[in-house]
Amino acid sequence: MNSKSAINPPAAVCVIGLGNMGVPMANRLIGAGFKVTGFDLSATARKRFSEGGGTTARDANSAASDADVVITLLPDGNAVRTALDGLKRQLKQGSVIMEMSSSDPIGTRSLGEAFISAGFEFIDAPVSGGVKRATDGSLAIMVGGDENSINRVAPLLNAMGRSIFRTGVLGSGHAMKALNNYVSAAGLIAAVEATAIGEKFGLKPDLIADILNASTGRNNTTEVKLKQFIISKTFNAGFPMRLMAKDVRTADRLAHALGIPSPLADITAKLWDEASQSLGDKADHTEVGRYIETLKP
Ligand code: NAD
Repeated sequence: MNSKSAINPPAAVCVIGLGNMGVPMANRLIGAGFKVTGFDLSATARKRFSEGGGTTARDANSAASDADVVITLLPDGNAVRTALDGLKRQLKQGSVIMEMSSSDPIGTRSLGEAFISAGFEFIDAPVSGGVKRATDGSLAIMVGGDENSINRVAPLLNAMGRSIFRTGVLGSGHAMKALNNYVSAAGLIAAVEATAIGEKFGLKPDLIADILNASTGRNNTTEVKLKQFIISKTFNAGFPMRLMAKDVRTADRLAHALGIPSPLADITAKLWDEASQSLGDKADHTEVGRYIETLKP
């Protein structure tokens, strides 16, 4: 294959990480006609993917060695580095690595540059939209890295997302993803606190949500989470608190690395870290109010 041509179906794609996002995103690629092989360290995750009709390999090397594109959808940048370092000698020369996890942008830059020096193409392409939009192919994807590499994988990006943003240099997609989730996480806490305060004063929670949504306090939480998952106490939005805490911490670390004052990010990252440690791995991010209730006024 010409190293500069677009990678179209039925090219071979390897997806490493068959979790909540990896499976539906791999299924979108299968639906578009790509030849997808998946791998996950967890046998349960591999089984779930193969029971849904996907092809899995017994190890990452066999999944990736013939692939034109290797996609990583792992918990964080450390897991990505571990997985990719183990594969480096097996990857096809000229193949494109698409790092679609939400990872630390500074780590992504150094990892990507090492792979580019070794003859591979490397872009970061984290996503926003959750499992629902991963399933229907309407994710927002923020893509950083070389323009030609992004052009080559455009058919894959279009199969998985509806809004594809080119963010600039390598790592800029990951920076943007962390910053987005910081803004979202700070807004969620503000909405949760306002609802608790208002309710204690005698306002009805549903009315608080309605008024916020008709006023300047409106944000993503007030619109699609407050009544649906928080006031209703169903807490099943589907995005784990541990991932939100990681993303906010990533944004805060970036601020410190760049020497940008970020007092709100400092406090927000601390709150999400503590809430996540207190409520555990299974907690949904919309449960953060349950942790805040335990704090002294
Ligand atoms: P997940 O925890 O459901 O899945 C991650 C998978 O990676 C697990 O199955 C785990 O076994 C596997 N894994 C870990 N280390 C591995 C390795 N070295 N090799 C192979 N497999 C390994 O996570 P997810 O919800 O699918 O999220 C994946 C990434 O996408 C994360 O970085 C997350 O922050 C991001 N993200 C998630 C959502 C969401 O709604 N869940 C939304 C946007 C972005």
